Amino acid sequence: MATTSQTNVTLDTIVSLAKRRGFIFQSSEIYGGLNGCWDYGPLGVELLRNIKESWWRAMTYRDDIEGIDAAILMHPRVWEASGHVQSFSDPMIDNKISKKRYRADHLIEGEIEKLRKKGRTEQADALEAKLNAASDPAEFYQIIIEHQIQDPETGQAEWTEVRQFNLMFKTYIGPLEESSSAVYLRPETAQGIFVNFTNVLQSSRQKVPFGIAQIGKSFRNEINTKNFLFRTREFEQMEMQFFVKPGEDAKWYDYWREQRWNWFRDLGMQMERLRMKPHEKLAHYARAAVDIEYQFPFGWGELEGIHNRSDFDLGRHTEYSGKKLEYFDQVANERYTPFVIETAVGASRSTMAFLCDAYAEEEVKGEKRNVLRFHPKLAPYKVAVFPLVNKDGMPEFATKLHGDLQRSFKAFYDDSGAVGRRYRRQDEIGTPFCVTIDGQTLEDGTVTVRDRDTMQQERIPAEGVGGYVGQRIA
Ligand code: ATP
Repeated sequence: MATTSQTNVTLDTIVSLAKRRGFIFQSSEIYGGLNGCWDYGPLGVELLRNIKESWWRAMTYRDDIEGIDAAILMHPRVWEASGHVQSFSDPMIDNKISKKRYRADHLIEGEIEKLRKKGRTEQADALEAKLNAASDPAEFYQIIIEHQIQDPETGQAEWTEVRQFNLMFKTYIGPLEESSSAVYLRPETAQGIFVNFTNVLQSSRQKVPFGIAQIGKSFRNEINTKNFLFRTREFEQMEMQFFVKPGEDAKWYDYWREQRWNWFRDLGMQMERLRMKPHEKLAHYARAAVDIEYQFPFGWGELEGIHNRSDFDLGRHTEYSGKKLEYFDQVANERYTPFVIETAVGASRSTMAFLCDAYAEEEVKGEKRNVLRFHPKLAPYKVAVFPLVNKDGMPEFATKLHGDLQRSFKAFYDDSGAVGRRYRRQDEIGTPFCVTIDGQTLEDGTVTVRDRDTMQQERIPAEGVGGYVGQRIA
């Protein structure tokens, strides 16, 4: 009988499993690490690729969405048009005593959470209303001082003023570090899509409504990086911009909200750990915005944003570039700037969410088993092959079967230790199926397939294993 206890998993447990089994390593660890940057190890890169592949298939293997892969470095005017140069910044505050640096809005959010935990709901609501109304540094500072908010790490603070800090990383094209050659590492992938609107429209002969999708690295010089892959300075995003006729935007917003929610559901995410949170504060151009949030070990956090961005983006690029980013509807004989429904999800944050979600500790016949219950589509290895013993022709049979499976699936071969221990090792990395070659295999050509989640075994012909695994993944 198995009992699960994954709800109480701590972030430390996930981080240490991720390192031990080769999912995620601290960047440049032998030099003491680099804050806010992580490397994907042999299993992590498979998981990440499987997540990206699932997204890519869901978003672009349909008639009305095209994929692109734009450059990370873009013309600096892009970021003026998008508003990032002027306002992609966070309010930053320093504690003169501890020398610790915080995001002012996060400090206030922490205080709100503390009040809620103490049951002081009215005060928490009032503080939240003030936070939602605040937009400039002086207002954040005022709230922090008025509510005597202390340093959450040391409990004591002497605060500096709040300053706005632009999150874009700046670098230079060419050998001279002069302002005329400054460029930015993109802080989001969306702008590569907007500036290619006409290119894609003309080359693909799409008609509105249609979308453009892309997966790629983004960079943000975050003031605080913490919580593992949740907030990092280098990360991957999966973004799709869907261009629609003004007036049809509300319908498509609802459609994409549902599609994106279902994507997480269909990949096996526990639904009670997901929620939709509408934005309380909308950007001036936005018609509607909602976050899909996941309940991480440290609390609820955004996984994906779905936004109705009106005609803001194409309008701004039209204004700044002088090139009309419009659509001409030949049937209705009308020209307009399409509205954009955006779906923006972090591939790195999703990797962390799927890791946390899959993790379970169970007791099986008095022994502890750690298991990652990944959806088979996401599991790094799809199948493991074991010869029961290393003699009597079993290794030869197993090696051949492993080689055959490897042509279609990432497959693992393990011939060391008791079979029970080999199962546990695969459970801990989330391999959904383990195939064992035993004495009977040599007599009748059948093998056992053991299911990671039910731990049940069934006997099937060896030549049917590929089909079986393929079907179960699908
Ligand atoms: P947050 O409020 O958490 O900073 P955001 O609202 O700025 O996020 P968006 O600009 O909407 O995020 O980016 C879309 C997605 O990209 C986010 O939902 C998240 O999954 C991912 N993302 C954004 N910033 C980071 C980061 N620093 N590290 C990892 N993933 C990120």
